[in-house]
Amino acid sequence: MVSLDFIELDHVPDGLLERPASALYQQLTGPTLIHLQGREKRPLVISVLQHGNEVTGWEAVRRLLKSHFPLDNLPRSLLILIGNPMAAKHRLRRLDDQPDFNRCWPGGRETDSAYTRLFRQIHDRMRELQPLAAIDIHNNTGLNPHYAAVNLIRSDYLRLASLFSSKVVYFTMPAGTMSLSMSEHCPSLTLECGQAGEIHGTDHTLAFLETCLHLESISTKPIAADAVRLFHMVATVRVNDNVLFGFGRVPAELSLREDLDKFNFCELPPGTSFGSLNQHSRQPLFAVNPEGVDVTSEYFSFDRGQVETTRETMPSMLTLDRRVIQQDCLCYLMDRIHYEFGEEVAGPDPLPEGMRRSDRPGAPSA
Ligand SMILES: [Zn+2]
Repeated sequence: MVSLDFIELDHVPDGLLERPASALYQQLTGPTLIHLQGREKRPLVISVLQHGNEVTGWEAVRRLLKSHFPLDNLPRSLLILIGNPMAAKHRLRRLDDQPDFNRCWPGGRETDSAYTRLFRQIHDRMRELQPLAAIDIHNNTGLNPHYAAVNLIRSDYLRLASLFSSKVVYFTMPAGTMSLSMSEHCPSLTLECGQAGEIHGTDHTLAFLETCLHLESISTKPIAADAVRLFHMVATVRVNDNVLFGFGRVPAELSLREDLDKFNFCELPPGTSFGSLNQHSRQPLFAVNPEGVDVTSEYFSFDRGQVETTRETMPSMLTLDRRVIQQDCLCYLMDRIHYEFGEEVAGPDPLPEGMRRSDRPGAPSA
């Protein structure tokens, strides 16, 4: 049986910080964990490049480390995961013969494989070191505001998220993400830092990491009900595999709006059109809720030659990238969650504090 290993280092190899993500493969041949000791021993876990084309995390980490060079006096220990240097070489999310790394962590639905065993090992290694927090950094392809995602609704998790953005998404689907598997052990975030290569995304991420590096602790005291705007996913929308689609005025069965991604994080009224249907024989889109139930008819109608929303909804992750749409999905649909914490840290519903909400509605991770 194939087995995969990860590289473990206690230093930053010479020259590594000079390399863009696409050149890391010259020094790192696979997933790599770098341990750096700081004054506070419990490490901050930072994960970058689980998706090889999402380079903002690495850009922020290399600037962070350069600014603390020679790294002998970090305020806190760091544990840095560099996920997929081989896919980064080709500027791809993943290679064709690889699974999506951010679906292979413990608790995921990927079948037992060399990759799920590898990420179980990395997870266990991180957990052993009792991290202060775990931060997994991503980009997405559409026009999206920067936001943090959490997998548990707790004051300390939301407080950490609020240091990055006032918009926070709660998700438990898809399963097998790093932040979901780490959220059992420490405050854990997925950061969505806009599109790869945008300098303000790197600046924002760097500032956040610098703040986290200096945190003494993350308070579990109740957080104010308006400290963040919290959303959760109510459906994943996919284009029917058999339907030819395009953007703008194209001779395809489904012509999506050219500016579709401007709807991201906008609360859309009913009757909003995502695009037009040029022949209407097959159902163009499917919307599925986190329990796997088809809810297309609750959100869309197709009977006026248009793909129209039928109720108020807020999309996220809408993208104009065909490959992402085919490999992943067109978008997620979101609803606002109103949370309130009493004296005790507790969720917004009767689930006991700290309980993993793996069976609760979720929201997206890129
Ligand atoms: Zn990603």
